Amino acid sequence: MTTYGTPETVVHARTTADVAGAIHLARDAGVPLTVRSGGHSVAGHSTADGGVLLDLRGLHRITLLDRARGRVRIGAGATWGTVGRRLAPYGLAITAGDTASVGVGGLTLGGGIGWMVRRYGLAVDSVVGAHVVTADGRLRHVDAAHDPDLFWAIRGGGGNVGVVTTLDMEAAAVSEVVFGVLSYEVRDVGALVRGWRDHLRTSDDRLTSVLALTPETPMGPAQAVVQWCFAEPDHAGATRATAGLRALGTVLADEYAVVPYPDVLEEHDMPEGMQVAMRNALVPALTDDAIDAALALRDAAPTVIALRGLGGAVRWVAPDATAFAHRDAEAMVLAARMAPPGAPAPSLGGSGDDWEAVARHGTGAYVGFLDGADPDAARLVYPPETYARLAAVKAAYDPDNLFRSNHNVPPARTTEPVR
Ligand SMILES: Cc1cc2nc3c(=O)[nH]c(=O)nc-3n(C[C@H](O)[C@H](O)[C@H](O)COP(=O)(O)OP(=O)(O)OC[C@H]3O[C@@H](n4cnc5c(N)ncnc54)[C@H](O)[C@@H]3O)c2cc1C
Repeated sequence: MTTYGTPETVVHARTTADVAGAIHLARDAGVPLTVRSGGHSVAGHSTADGGVLLDLRGLHRITLLDRARGRVRIGAGATWGTVGRRLAPYGLAITAGDTASVGVGGLTLGGGIGWMVRRYGLAVDSVVGAHVVTADGRLRHVDAAHDPDLFWAIRGGGGNVGVVTTLDMEAAAVSEVVFGVLSYEVRDVGALVRGWRDHLRTSDDRLTSVLALTPETPMGPAQAVVQWCFAEPDHAGATRATAGLRALGTVLADEYAVVPYPDVLEEHDMPEGMQVAMRNALVPALTDDAIDAALALRDAAPTVIALRGLGGAVRWVAPDATAFAHRDAEAMVLAARMAPPGAPAPSLGGSGDDWEAVARHGTGAYVGFLDGADPDAARLVYPPETYARLAAVKAAYDPDNLFRSNHNVPPARTTEPVR
């Protein structure tokens, strides 16, 4: 995704001084600042009309700091595909999304839900420190001991509190995984989804799976597909862990193999100009009612429904340990409608679409998979306590809300001290 929109100035940062320069430029001119790492913002937050666009792709260096501990320093402008390939020769991997071209900066700051999420947690759970340039232009190294409130806020708070230039992360000792795709005859999808949910509830944490239901399009028929990743190169173990998935319906194709971890990341990009309406709900219990509400969305308009299995290591972290608070989520229910350039814009959540009927089963939403239609979407992403704490961190580090081209949490002072 390379569309910039029409910013007045584009700063291609190569150093942290360039980042500070762009911040000063925008602040002094009183114009909006837009930050971009991989450029994959679903909400279009890294595409600007007017103001300064800060492009971080030049900050892409990846340095192995400590091989034994898997500690690595990653430039926010790198992509996850590059990170995967760079770490693979050392037998290391970081679970972070499913797409090679997605940026380290945007995905990690939102949380990061990847193919080994149930085994190694969110991408933010691997972060042990970061360099952040704050709204005053100061470069800070943050971790659990230094600016701990800022460190808390960058792990889930999106781009709200500063520009992250590097992330120190601890990679897992993974070189190969088993990756598979099961496709089913599209018949009783309700039974298929309920069966997938039941399987998830007793599933091995090494297994992460996504069930996607796609509508019929001019390009092809409707499909029901489960993609899965077993976070070890153990073919027999993976066969056992996925046996229940093969009994969920009539299987049309069942392919899996041991592959290097970087190979599981797809190269696909959204076609240029494609219009997307996208919502998601993080649900503590994927009840039959929640499933029925999600499937009913397809009655109003062609809709992609994707269910991502969570739980496992996501639950091992306390809800207040990072700004990603929905640690009790069993699954993420995602709905998307698309339309080509020039066609009427697709929507979700308007009257008649009944996204609300799905959302009420969740505790909130994942920031990475939200379109930009709701200007107050941050209220969905951050539960009230998290929102208040983020607003207080924001007031301390970005009191003028310079970083607002995001799912924004405006600064607000509270009577409570920032922890
Ligand atoms: C094809 C596709 C597949 C995806 N798959 C996954 C997935 O598997 N798992 C998942 O969790 N998410 C996924 N996402 C969502 C993705 O995490 C978000 O869209 C994320 O914002 C993209 O990161 P980016 O760096 O490419 O985006 P950008 O568009 O560059 O950034 C998005 C926003 O994040 C903020 N930001 C980015 N970098 C920085 C920085 N260094 N410092 C401060 N703020 C910053 C800014 O507000 C910016 O506007 C996917 C998105 C797409 C389009």
